[in-house]
Amino acid sequence: MNRLAGKTALITGAARGIGRAFARAYVGEGARVAIADIDHAGAQSAAGELGNGAIAVPFDVTDPASIDAGLAQVAGTFGGVDILINNAAIFTAAPITAITRDDYARCFDINVAGTLFTLQAVAKHMIARGQGGKIINMASQAGRRGEPLVAVYCASKAAVISLTQSAGLNLIEHGINVNAIAPGVVDGDHWDDVDAFFAKFEGKPLGQKKKEVGESVPYGRMGRADDLTGMAVFLASDDADYIVAQTYNVDGGQWMS
Ligand code: NAD
Repeated sequence: MNRLAGKTALITGAARGIGRAFARAYVGEGARVAIADIDHAGAQSAAGELGNGAIAVPFDVTDPASIDAGLAQVAGTFGGVDILINNAAIFTAAPITAITRDDYARCFDINVAGTLFTLQAVAKHMIARGQGGKIINMASQAGRRGEPLVAVYCASKAAVISLTQSAGLNLIEHGINVNAIAPGVVDGDHWDDVDAFFAKFEGKPLGQKKKEVGESVPYGRMGRADDLTGMAVFLASDDADYIVAQTYNVDGGQWMS
């Protein structure tokens, strides 16, 4: 199908994982895609795989100059940005007594400030263009409740859900829909990092936490990046014009359980 024909999407953190699957799905729906990642080699590899519809853009969501330069490059190449997915994030975990200020600052800088100020830059661009737009933030089931070892990441994703509400309400007057997706547990490099944190803090062998979590999902398995692409395409399409400031769980039923 071509539900995103003629549209340009900027996707942060799309060099791998869920963002890379979004980029593939968007190109499949007729969009042009900018893979905006701090891992430029990974972004180039992803863009190369997708062909003419995709470019790799050096992008660090913590650096205002990088956000502006990346956005200018995408707008200059494709003529403007219609869709933003704020997907770049990092995971971190530690017991409350072991959380450091550095770790907190890094996680909030990427996951929260990175989301807010990339959204701000793209919203200004969309307002100036006068054609509206779609912004999708990547939240998490972790943003819906705390977890004993995951205070900082959970709080960062709760902040993403809150920012989605405020930005959604503020920007809809410009025809810009801001919504979010809250995945459950999605297999990939990110979850290998998560598994390693739990191995460290819960003394589990590597792979054990991942196995337990997969078995706990009502659907019967961990998510795959491709399980999320349907929602990402829908929220970027005209079918989602009347959807404002929402966060959708796409998690195999995990949050409900
Ligand atoms: P991932 O770790 O595989 O990919 C994250 C990407 O972000 C990487 O390519 C990385 O280079 C990039 N990145 C990191 N810092 C950056 C920066 N400063 N600027 C630009 N890019 C940067 O993660 P994923 O599993 O694909 O997750 C994608 C999104 O979904 C994240 O927001 C994550 O929090 C969220 N999420 C993931 C899961 C899961 O189980 N995988 C669950 C819930 C929510």
